[in-house]
Amino acid sequence: MTKCDACGVKFKWEDIFVNIWALYRPIRCRACGVKHKIVYASRTLAAIAIVVPIFAVAFLIPGLSVGLKVAVIFGLGFFVSLLLPFILKYESNYEDYKR
Ligand SMILES: [Zn+2]
Repeated sequence: MTKCDACGVKFKWEDIFVNIWALYRPIRCRACGVKHKIVYASRTLAAIAIVVPIFAVAFLIPGLSVGLKVAVIFGLGFFVSLLLPFILKYESNYEDYKR
C-alpha cells in the first residue's frame, strides 16, 4: 500500500479505491494533508489491468450473450479495482521541495 511521502502514514485501502473511481483526483494524506497524485506508470498499469481482461472476455470467449458480456465486464472491472489499491503508487510534490 502506498505511503505518505511527507509523514510516512499508510494510505487506507478505501481512500485509494474511491480515488480510482474518482478518476485519480489527488488524494490528501489523512494525517498531514499533503496532496498525492497517482504515479503515471501506475495509471497506465491500472488501465491495462482493467482493459485487458475486458478485451479478453469480449473477444476470446465466443457465444456469450451481450447481457452476459456486459455483466462479466463490469464484474471484472470491479474485481480488478478491488486489487488496484495494493498495486498503485502515489507521490506528492513533497519530493520536489526536497530537491
Ligand atoms: Zn502525511
